[in-house]
Amino acid sequence: MIIYTLCDKIKLILFIGDSMTEIEKKIEELRKTLRYHSDRYYNDDAPEIEDYEYDMMMRELKELEEKYPEYDAPDSPTKKVGGVADNSFESVAHSVRMESLQDAFSKDELREFSNRVEDTVSDVNYVVEPKIDGLSVSLEYRDGVFLRGSTRGNGDVGEDVSGNLRVIHNIPLKLNKSIPYIEVRGEVYMPKKSFERVVDRQIINGEKPFKNPRNAAAGSLRQKDSSVTASRGLDIFVFNIQQIEGVELSSHKESLDFIKELGFNTIPTYKKVDNIEDAIAEIDRIGEARGSLEYDIDGAVIKVDDFSQRDILGSTAKYPKWAIAFKYPPEEKQTKLLDIEIAVGRTGVLTPTAILESVHLAGTTVSRATLHNQDFINEKGIAIGDVVTVRKAGDIIPEVLCVNEHNSNSVFKFPDVCPSCGEKVYRDEDEAAIRCINPECPAQLLRNLIHFCSRDAMDIEGLGPAIIETFVNEGMIAKTYDIYNLDFNKILSLEGFKETSANNIINSVNNSKNNDLSKLIFALGIRHIGAKAGKLLADYFKDIDLVMNASVDDILQIDGFGKIMAESVVEFFSSDSTKELIEKLKEAGVNMKSTNVVEDTRFSGMTFVLTGTLPTLKRAEASKIIESFGGKTSSSVSKKTTYVLAGEEAGSKLDKANKLGVQIISEEEFKEILDKEETDTVEFKSWINARNIKEIISLAVDELIAFANTKGGTVYFGVEDKPIE
Ligand code: NAD
Repeated sequence: MIIYTLCDKIKLILFIGDSMTEIEKKIEELRKTLRYHSDRYYNDDAPEIEDYEYDMMMRELKELEEKYPEYDAPDSPTKKVGGVADNSFESVAHSVRMESLQDAFSKDELREFSNRVEDTVSDVNYVVEPKIDGLSVSLEYRDGVFLRGSTRGNGDVGEDVSGNLRVIHNIPLKLNKSIPYIEVRGEVYMPKKSFERVVDRQIINGEKPFKNPRNAAAGSLRQKDSSVTASRGLDIFVFNIQQIEGVELSSHKESLDFIKELGFNTIPTYKKVDNIEDAIAEIDRIGEARGSLEYDIDGAVIKVDDFSQRDILGSTAKYPKWAIAFKYPPEEKQTKLLDIEIAVGRTGVLTPTAILESVHLAGTTVSRATLHNQDFINEKGIAIGDVVTVRKAGDIIPEVLCVNEHNSNSVFKFPDVCPSCGEKVYRDEDEAAIRCINPECPAQLLRNLIHFCSRDAMDIEGLGPAIIETFVNEGMIAKTYDIYNLDFNKILSLEGFKETSANNIINSVNNSKNNDLSKLIFALGIRHIGAKAGKLLADYFKDIDLVMNASVDDILQIDGFGKIMAESVVEFFSSDSTKELIEKLKEAGVNMKSTNVVEDTRFSGMTFVLTGTLPTLKRAEASKIIESFGGKTSSSVSKKTTYVLAGEEAGSKLDKANKLGVQIISEEEFKEILDKEETDTVEFKSWINARNIKEIISLAVDELIAFANTKGGTVYFGVEDKPIE
């Protein structure tokens, strides 16, 4: 592109070269972006953008591909059903393809759809259903008994998730009628109530919460452990028969009624109409009811009812031509921003919420909306009193989209102190979040307590999340150190507690006082300090007072510590609340010193990096062995690395070790080092006072025997391999 400036106001822009190349570039860019987001959405269950944004990009790509067919590609996202079958599950080849749906964002597109249908077949009846926002699965039954269940995957090959589907209450393991074979298709979803419960728990446990019920359903179904799936409260609506033996069905409505009889939870409403206008009216009705449903829907589906008409209409590579999904456009409204409330989440993050003049939006009354963080507020220039646009894109939480009318107030600024405890708040360089790091902040109490008592932290058996919650609600724990003042009789007076259980709690609280310092440091929940870093701090400083007084530079002396971690430790211990907490824990008799005494220190001062799959040892086992002999493990290879312990399929770490000349050892060599007996060099001193050679030998032998006794060994005298005891 060349720009000629003719005068101040006129610029001549000249495109040179093939302008189609620009188009091609745009198409490629869209494909790349869509593939990236598709991967986050289907395979990681963690989308980064709104569905609507994704749909609009897909639409743009589709339009460009139609306009410029020369850039068509068979692997374009417009032609592929999303997702891949993850190889952590067995794959299932679908004998009937699990197709996607074509989508529409306006009523006119629905009318165009019906025109296309009715140009090919006449006297059409449609069935209109809500489009459940979950994850598509196939369920197979032989002779009425559940045989197998799988995900959609890429439409042709999915993942066998039978074990996880079995634990969903509404999936029958035996049907009400025994038919030779049936495969149905349904949508596994997470009801809004379960979603709130699961997210709440994830936040308490310090895990990354699911973004929406759809991703929560997908993430919960694709679990290795069925008990996790069972705990997530998933449900299913079945909406189609993929194949059936021994029964003849001729229409969709008839098949839905039939699967209901078999015992399936069918799609909750399905209405048969004989023209597109009535179908549109039903779509409006579903849209109005949307906010009050107990599950998320992301649209409504119109399907041709008659199976023989469906056969005539056929399918494209991606979707059937006899169905279309109407996606409700995100509804937007303008309203006044009355106030901004700052709440402290359980992880200590300060979150701003807009308090709005109430507006009716997507079936619900909206008076609050998320403002994300300070960066978002700055970017949009949001101030209290502004008129703003609010959007609800099918998600549970509405958001402020933009400012329409600025008020004279200045842009809202977060407070410098925590609204819950009044302590100073911090912002990490690499994060948008501003957080309170006070370990005794009331807003974070429950989460901090659960972490403090957890196995890798103070390991207080019996003080699990539910009991901690009860104790907090009963006013027995208001600060972390109250754990060490729990009253036996008070526990006994609570419902569900017997003498043994109350005793067990008191005993494990007392036992935890003897924990090594490393467990205490981890239990304090210092940001960026996990169990391993806690151990490094404890091993290096040996005493909590030394950790508390350490400077960033002191901490940086520890191999494995970076600036962010060191600063986090110093910030944490500079708070008055932390100092008070440590003082109270000391008073309660909690051990503040490192009790980790390593007897055989053959790996002392050495750093190992583990990479690849070892033939027999798990990585965690190898790390434990190294640490028990005084060594350290690190995740990255540097000049300071002593050994790289490499197994099969070791990757870039091996290359780096070779480049830096670090010694690489196999598991076998590692074991050889371990098998080598530790050689103690003992200096005998008693002979110094001896008067002759006989006395020298006699005193040396006594000393040798005494030394052997301290080591639990036996001394043999003799010549080479013929020892005499
Ligand atoms: P789709 O979700 O738009 O429609 C097809 C699915 O609808 C089927 O798999 C089916 O299981 C389900 N469905 C629910 N109720 C149904 C009913 N009553 N009848 C028939 N089917 C019903 O298409 P898709 O290919 O699964 O996914 C594409 C959508 O996923 C996009 O429109 C986009 O919104 C979303 N997506 C979002 C991102 C992101 O980053 N946010 C990325 C990829 C995809």
